[in-house]
Amino acid sequence: MKGFAMLKIGQTGWITKDTPACGPMDAICKPLALAPCTSDVHTVWAGAIGDRHNMILGHEAVGEVVEVGSLVKDFKVGDKVLVSAITPDWGSLQAQEGYAMHSGGMLAGWKFSNFKDGVFAEFFHVNEADANLAHLPEGMDLGAATMISDMVPTGFHGVELADVQFGDNVAVIGIGPVGLMAVAAAGIRGAANIYAVGSRKNCADLAMEFGATNIINYREGDIVEQILDLNHGPVDRIVVAGGDNDTFDQAIRMLKPGGVIGNVNYLGDGDTIGLPRVEWGCGMGHKKIVGGLMPGRRLRSEKLARLVQTHRIHPEKLITHRFEGLENVEPALMLMKDKPRDLIKPLVVL
Ligand code: NDP
Ligand code: ZN
Repeated sequence: MKGFAMLKIGQTGWITKDTPACGPMDAICKPLALAPCTSDVHTVWAGAIGDRHNMILGHEAVGEVVEVGSLVKDFKVGDKVLVSAITPDWGSLQAQEGYAMHSGGMLAGWKFSNFKDGVFAEFFHVNEADANLAHLPEGMDLGAATMISDMVPTGFHGVELADVQFGDNVAVIGIGPVGLMAVAAAGIRGAANIYAVGSRKNCADLAMEFGATNIINYREGDIVEQILDLNHGPVDRIVVAGGDNDTFDQAIRMLKPGGVIGNVNYLGDGDTIGLPRVEWGCGMGHKKIVGGLMPGRRLRSEKLARLVQTHRIHPEKLITHRFEGLENVEPALMLMKDKPRDLIKPLVVL
């Protein structure tokens, strides 16, 4: 089969591989829709998780099942499925501890385009199909369905990590597709003011539509000053879905004692992250930073799909660029790398 791969750090290309084999609990799928992710960009061009050779990229897909293992109960050939970007080993000790995304080691529940071939291929392998796939709801928009792989669960996880409560004033730093879903999730969680930090106009417009109360442009001045000023003081919770290693310094400066920073940004560069000593209460400020990989699982995909079906979230609005045909995952990924100002998220339909 043909697939679009990371050949080595900084280099991508088309390769041919054998179609993956199906274990007894697994499924083989062919893609119906695919999306590239900023994480693919960090992985290839920043080499953020180390070198990978001839590894097929991609972890965001809607698929059709073409083969199932003998022990798979709930999926059969021909089923259309939501595919979670994170596909843990559910029997692992880490999963039993509540951190399935780290099953087998830190970040190891993230298998596609990290520890095994991803979804940018004619076929891809899904481990533990009953736990990691979900049925595509009848009539669901393919763009919205593809966003349930990663953008929706990651944005929502940022809000879970930040532990947003009713009436909280929340800053969402970064309003690409992940941050936009965090804005929507903060609203659903009952946030009061939602300060959305970004600079692209279409992202800012969609953030307002998804429930932001203010847009903070980081290119037009210090975000800490802007948010402290607008909020008349520090905020309760912060979701980090963009920026860089210095963003935590800014976040600590604008966070209340007792506040929480939930980070879902994938930090591609640098060795250490600095924190401002005094604003961190000289180490005693009760300001918490929690960073997390999004949780996978079928039940979560089904529940997030329900939010789409009940029109509480509109992830299809993230899609700004559409392509047809597997060969177009390449230009779609390059868009993700180059981030033109009118881009939020590309979709490739097969
Ligand atoms: P985008 O690149 O589309 O969005 C990044 C956002 O951050 C943009 O709004 C951008 O603003 C803003 N930004 C950039 N620099 C700064 C800065 N210095 N200060 C404040 N804001 C800034 O990324 P995605 O939404 O696609 O993904 C966000 C992150 O989530 C990525 O690192 C991705 O790899 C990661 N990720 C993590 C997952 C997880 O499980 N934890 C899963 C999936 C993705 P502008 O408007 O100027 O572009
Ligand atoms: Zn992703």
